Amino acid sequence: MTAGQGEAKEKRQWERMLPAEFRAAVDALPVVFLPLGTVEWHGEHNALGLDALKAHALCVMAARRAGGGVVHPPLYGGMGGLDKPATVIIEEELSWENYLLRPWLERLCSEFERLGFEAAIILTGHYGHNQQIVVREVAARMTERLQIPILGTAEYWLAQDAGYLGDHAGIGETSLLSFLHPPLVVIERLKDDVDYGRTDAIARGASAELGKRYADLIVERLARLAASMIRWDDASRSAFVRSERAFVSAQVKGWRTEHPWAAWDRMFTGELTSYGALLVEERFQDIENLVEELLHKELKT
Ligand SMILES: [Zn+2]
Repeated sequence: MTAGQGEAKEKRQWERMLPAEFRAAVDALPVVFLPLGTVEWHGEHNALGLDALKAHALCVMAARRAGGGVVHPPLYGGMGGLDKPATVIIEEELSWENYLLRPWLERLCSEFERLGFEAAIILTGHYGHNQQIVVREVAARMTERLQIPILGTAEYWLAQDAGYLGDHAGIGETSLLSFLHPPLVVIERLKDDVDYGRTDAIARGASAELGKRYADLIVERLARLAASMIRWDDASRSAFVRSERAFVSAQVKGWRTEHPWAAWDRMFTGELTSYGALLVEERFQDIENLVEELLHKELKT
């Protein structure tokens, strides 16, 4: 079974719609999805556009599941990228400065609101730490600026409790691409890869079945959020912004005081993985409480 099978086949891709189809999709659910990614080396075994291809496919499946909404074409380019062949680095991974991605995203959000969308979900499949910070920060800021809820997150944050903690061309990403775009993964090529093919961990661990498990959870949560975000009242929206800003604060503080990934450490150990579940249940105060624990290693049990 490949991505999208068994689901309604309505067009959800903005660029493929005729105006009447666009109007119907917005009438059915006034939510826009914006997938982000880049072209970046993902090992000899994965297609170079993995991040954007993955985010885009997940958004299309989520919009189909939700029964409405529109998926903007994927935006290629962002913060960071490996020093490897066939990789575009628009802005440096370890730079505090961000001159291109932020204003572009802010402008797109403003356009979405002007065109009548009542909520937006920015899903980044590319996840350098700075990319994640910028995306979440922009979404929180534009939620306040436009007074419509805008979520900006990496897709793996919605599947951490299923065991996907985010990787780069590892078992998780390879599995997701194997499910979403089967022809774009050639596991046999790992034998030519001095890094990813050093052990047989990916060849043994990655599968379309695992990718489907992650994708199903991400899609289900995205669809639930799309349906519920347009109904959030002012208090919910404000609580959402506080919880998202709390993440950004911890990420920036951890970067400054420890290392760039400090606020992710306890997520990567599998300790603090409840963000996705809490978010769809709109338990924003619990999310703030979770953030409190990100940089408190002494609480580790
Ligand atoms: Zn990737």
